[in-house]
Amino acid sequence: MDLSSITVYADRRFLNYEEAKVGLLTHGLQYGTGCFEGIRGYWVPEERELFLVQLRDHFERLATSAKIMTMELRHTVDELIDVTIELCLRNRYESHVYVRPFVYKAAEDVGVRLHNVPDAFAIVPIPFAQYIDAGRGLDVCVSSWRRADDTMAPPRAKITGLYVNSALAKSEAVQNGYDEAILLSHDGHVAEGSAENIFLARRGVLYTPDPSQNVLEGVTRRSVIEIARDELGIPTVERSIDRGELYAAEEVFFTGTAVGICGVGSIDRRQVGDGDIGPITARLSELYNRIVTGREPRYESWLTRVYASAKISA
Ligand code: PMP
Repeated sequence: MDLSSITVYADRRFLNYEEAKVGLLTHGLQYGTGCFEGIRGYWVPEERELFLVQLRDHFERLATSAKIMTMELRHTVDELIDVTIELCLRNRYESHVYVRPFVYKAAEDVGVRLHNVPDAFAIVPIPFAQYIDAGRGLDVCVSSWRRADDTMAPPRAKITGLYVNSALAKSEAVQNGYDEAILLSHDGHVAEGSAENIFLARRGVLYTPDPSQNVLEGVTRRSVIEIARDELGIPTVERSIDRGELYAAEEVFFTGTAVGICGVGSIDRRQVGDGDIGPITARLSELYNRIVTGREPRYESWLTRVYASAKISA
């Protein structure tokens, strides 16, 4: 990807990507002492509009992650929303985008700790296409890696260093011929995918691990619970889930900013349903895609219109 023409936000300034560099010994790079967000923007050519999805929820989660890590964000959620809109405008994006805000320990010295190390903040927006091909059910496996436990480093915070856990699981899965991994908690209950929450459907009810199961409290997860209840009349039970329930499920799907809603076709070589994307998954996915591209007015409050916002403030 050619990043050289991208405008980023770093040290409270708008800079060219090439100008905004960090040094080799940067704490966040050496020790993973950072936290971040991933935000999607959907470009709708017919409207010539870029829709940023659930900006407020993402920045509120970033603030929570920073608090857990005793890091200082030094921007309010409203300021972060304004900066993100401005970044998209400055880059004149007319494509789907992925926005990566992050706060990190910025000192260039040696010594692992959180205290007495200054924090820095940046936002990098990049053009973005598809993360996983959602056109078919994914072939997934239960990982041999366990999800980090909250007593080790809290997964409800989106902590940079915690993604070692995800990367180990994802590469093991892909190198063994699968599309994605499902991680279990230390106690053997289902947690989540490498960068997705997980749902299963059985007898007209959705199930997903509750927030005490070492999962990230996904923004998409929350959206899906809401639209399943309000639009399809399908309740979601949040509770601990056994591995065997994955094999017994009629449908399984992942949710996440990058993947949207993504059906699972098989788990550990056992077919899920008829191996294709299940009917509840398909309905949720279609509805979600309509919502994030501004075609469901009831959900307009989930979206920030970049180009319309520019006209209002001009
Ligand atoms: N779990 C993990 C570990 C993730 O990295 C992500 C992606 N942010 C998710 C779940 C899904 O969260 P969201 O819907 O907020 O993107």
